[in-house]
Amino acid sequence: MDHFLYQDGILHAEDVPITEIAAAVGTPFYVYSTATLTRHFQLFQEALDGLDHLICFAVKSNSNQAVLSHMASLGAGMDVVSGGEYRRAKAAGVPGERIVFSGVGKTEEEMRLALEGGIRQFNVESEPEMARLSRVAMELGTVAPITVRVNPDVDAKTHAKIATGRKEDKFGIPIARAREVYALAASLPGLEVIGIDVHIGSQLTDLDPFETAYTKVAELTEQLRADGHTIRRLDLGGGLGIPYERSNTAPPLPIEYGAVIKRTVGHLGCEIEIEPGRLISGNAGLLVASTIYVKNGEDRDFLILDAAMNDLIRPAMYGAYHDIVPVVEAAPGAEQTPYDIVGPVCESGDTFAKQRNLPPVAEADLIAFRSAGAYGAVMSSEYNTRALIPEVMVKDDQFAVIRARPSFDDMINRDTLPPWA
Ligand SMILES: *Cc1c(COP(=O)(O)O)cnc(C)c1O
Repeated sequence: MDHFLYQDGILHAEDVPITEIAAAVGTPFYVYSTATLTRHFQLFQEALDGLDHLICFAVKSNSNQAVLSHMASLGAGMDVVSGGEYRRAKAAGVPGERIVFSGVGKTEEEMRLALEGGIRQFNVESEPEMARLSRVAMELGTVAPITVRVNPDVDAKTHAKIATGRKEDKFGIPIARAREVYALAASLPGLEVIGIDVHIGSQLTDLDPFETAYTKVAELTEQLRADGHTIRRLDLGGGLGIPYERSNTAPPLPIEYGAVIKRTVGHLGCEIEIEPGRLISGNAGLLVASTIYVKNGEDRDFLILDAAMNDLIRPAMYGAYHDIVPVVEAAPGAEQTPYDIVGPVCESGDTFAKQRNLPPVAEADLIAFRSAGAYGAVMSSEYNTRALIPEVMVKDDQFAVIRARPSFDDMINRDTLPPWA
């Protein structure tokens, strides 16, 4: 459920008409609903009720400072995958002891940053990373709390580019080698082993892969404890999917996901961490664009929008589906017409949808992409020297720009000429 509904024929973000935001900030823009972020976070809180747990918001899904500080105010921890994201979490007021650091390629600088600034744990992904983290921690006269990310060789049945738990994927260490790797970790003086981490992919719409992976983690917990390791925290990753297509059957609910967690690892007495991103931020955001032209092609009609693949890359990159709706509701009974919905970028890949049925659209009409709050603004670029688009946050009947559109001078002046020019 989200808070983007039609009122009096106009799509609203909570109590603010999208048309009002468009008039104030210009299109295209992203708009996020505070109430939707809150609601999704609360769903996970309810799902894990009764377990000692921490919900670490996956910063990579939406890293705007306003979103992060709202999540922090709800009590969320943060899952970061770079030094930049670590800095964003800290800047949003999240204490180091609520930040977990994931990712296959942590650099020494990033390790130092987190050890000095405070960290809940590093989710370590390889033996060379372990050796380096141990050395960096010792140099700083401290000990790094770690979990080891295990790769359970489970097919998450999601898009290949966001599946992370199969043996051919670059993530984690093979679960079959876990005992050996934990023995190595325990022997390194700069590390303190505290638990196990697993994350099998993103946009999972079936609970079975979670169940399989978490069952393997439970077995591993018993084995590692028998080997003498302290396993007191399980980080179960993120990945629960959202309904991008309203007409499709809905993916499992957080409460059902929570039941899987309780059933598979609930008896172990571990503190549970999860790292949801998309399910919290995805349906909490819209991308709003305006129609530049309606172009009648030889065998199809094109809606050419002022948003493009550089603003929302998911359709071009993953073939992803987004619901696309008019901001001003069509008259009841208006006939639907198929359109190819595209941006102005000079690539055929700059296509959001093909032959999508919409009520008739005219020049300057506003169009909204649903489910654009995750992996939208964070993956945008300035390709074609198109400025990063503004982000707006709504709360009840108020809205605020939370990242302004840069000027073209800002963009151009970031480049500098070499001294010989
Ligand atoms: C991407 C990622 C997440 C978040 O995934 P969602 O599908 O957005 O929930 C969580 N943990 C790790 C390690 C990730 O790489």
